[in-house]
Amino acid sequence: MTKNKALLYLDGVSVSFDGFKAINNLSLIVGHNELQAIIGPNGAGKTTMMDIITGKTRPDEGDVYFGGDADLTTMDEAEIAELGIGRKFQKPTVFESHTVRDNLELALKKPRGVFSAWFYHADADDEARIAEILETVRLTERADELAANLSHGQKQWLEIGMLLAQDPKLLLVDEPVAGMTDAETVETAILLKKIAQTRSVVVVEHDMSFIRDLAARVTVLAEGSVLAQGSLDHVSADPRVIESYLGR
Ligand code: ADP
Repeated sequence: MTKNKALLYLDGVSVSFDGFKAINNLSLIVGHNELQAIIGPNGAGKTTMMDIITGKTRPDEGDVYFGGDADLTTMDEAEIAELGIGRKFQKPTVFESHTVRDNLELALKKPRGVFSAWFYHADADDEARIAEILETVRLTERADELAANLSHGQKQWLEIGMLLAQDPKLLLVDEPVAGMTDAETVETAILLKKIAQTRSVVVVEHDMSFIRDLAARVTVLAEGSVLAQGSLDHVSADPRVIESYLGR
C-alpha cells in the first residue's frame, strides 16, 4: 500500500529518550477500514508509537502522514484530534454521575465547548446518532443507567462510544480487554470489528485469544521497530517473534 492509499503512514520514525531509541526507524501503514492489532513485549515502544500518532510525542526523525498528505509531525494534539484521530487509554474515563445517554450527549458536543455542552439538548439528528452508538457499543438497554452502575467492561464500551460520537476516522485503543470478563472480552472483539467496518481501528493488546477473535492484521513491535506482520498464525510461527515475545 502506498502513502496516498493509506489512512495512516509512519515513515522511518525514530524517537530517543535520554539517548535510548524507544522508536527506531519505525514504518507502519494503517489502511482505510482496517482493524490492526499491535503486540510486542513490554518496552517495545507501543505506547510511544501511539503518543507519536496523537502528537503527544514528537519524533526526532521520520514522517507521519494521515489521510494522504496531512503531516502529523507539524501538528499539536488538538489539531490531530480534530483531524479525526481518537484515542482510548487503558482506564475508562466516563462521567460516573451522569447516565450513559448523557455521557454520549456530552461527547457529541465537546467540540462546541465544554461549558455550552451542559446547557445543550440533543436534536433529532443527535438522538438518532446516540441510538446508533448505543447499539454499536451494546448499551441500549443501559442508556438511562448512571455510568457509575456499569460494569468495568461496559464503562470501556461507553468510552469507546464517546469517542465514536466524535466521528474519528481512526480509533486507537490501548489494552481494551484488560480486567474484562471472558464474556465481555468476546463482546469487545465483536464491537471493534463492527466499528472497523466504517473506520480504522488500531488496538494494542496482550490477550492472544482476544486478538485471535479480532482476526485483525497483527503487527509485532520489538525494540521500537516492526519485527513481523501478518495474520496471528503467521506472526506466531515466526522464530524471532517466539524468541522476543511469545516464548517468554
Ligand atoms: P510499551 O508500550 O511497548 O511497553 P513504551 O512505548 O512505553 O513501550 O516504552 C518504550 C521504551 O521507551 C521503554 O524502554 C521505556 O522505558 C522508554 N520510554 C518511554 N517513554 C519514556 C520517557 N518519557 N522517558 C524516558 N524513557 C521512556
